[in-house]
Amino acid sequence: MSDMKKNPNIKCSVSQCRYNLVSEDFCGLNCIHVGTHEANPTVPECVDCNSFVRRAE
Ligand code: SF4
Repeated sequence: MSDMKKNPNIKCSVSQCRYNLVSEDFCGLNCIHVGTHEANPTVPECVDCNSFVRRAE
C-alpha cells in the first residue's frame, strides 16, 4: 500500500488498518463506508469504519 496517497478529507488514526497512512494520520481511500453496530447510535463509539481491513503482519 506504499503507493497510496492520503485523502486530506478523511482523517484517521487507526494505524492497524491497511489503508491508514500512519505517518500522517489520514486514510488513503477515496471513499469510506461508515456504519453502526448499534440499533440506536448515541455516541461516537457506536459507529464504525466498515472499510477497515487489518494490516498484514
Ligand atoms: S479505511 Fe477506515 S479505518 Fe482504515 S484508514 Fe480509512 S478511515 Fe481509517
